[in-house]
Amino acid sequence: MAIRNIILEGDPMLRKKSKPVRQVNDHIRETMQDMVETMRQHEGVGLAAPQVGVMRRMFVAEPVPDEVYYMINPEILEQDGSQTGEEGCLSVPDLEGVVERPQHIKIRALDLDGNEQSYDFEDFHARVMCHEYDHLDGVLYIDKATETYDPQERYEELQKEYEEKNKELRKKLEEDGAISVEE
Ligand SMILES: [Zn+2]
Repeated sequence: MAIRNIILEGDPMLRKKSKPVRQVNDHIRETMQDMVETMRQHEGVGLAAPQVGVMRRMFVAEPVPDEVYYMINPEILEQDGSQTGEEGCLSVPDLEGVVERPQHIKIRALDLDGNEQSYDFEDFHARVMCHEYDHLDGVLYIDKATETYDPQERYEELQKEYEEKNKELRKKLEEDGAISVEE
């Protein structure tokens, strides 16, 4: 297995529609294993083939640790409900955004053995699958996000808020005599 390079937003490859996989062979399996390794290296929860310059309709996903899905020629058969949550993308580093996605999807894909599988996903699983699926059509989450921000900046803002709140809390605790100092 090998770590692949991840293409970043701005490269036209990320905006193209990928072509179906014609045959699930060793080359495809090896590519997908590399994709898993690359995704893990970057602490991602999903990676689509076009992100590593392979313009084929396939992606890997690991919405929870050690639960890896290999999706080849996936098709979303059903989608319903809606959920709003935060997303990031390995092709758009240092950014997060708020995206609306279906609450539930039914998706069909070939697995690494070339067998057809269908899955029902909800919540975060559904979100990850939809995000990766979009990559196969040249769509990035930032196209759909209602808001994008730098998580580092948001973290710094939050730290300031916590600091202010802690000052108030500390004062209150001291007034109540709730703080005891162990020597
Ligand atoms: Zn992505």
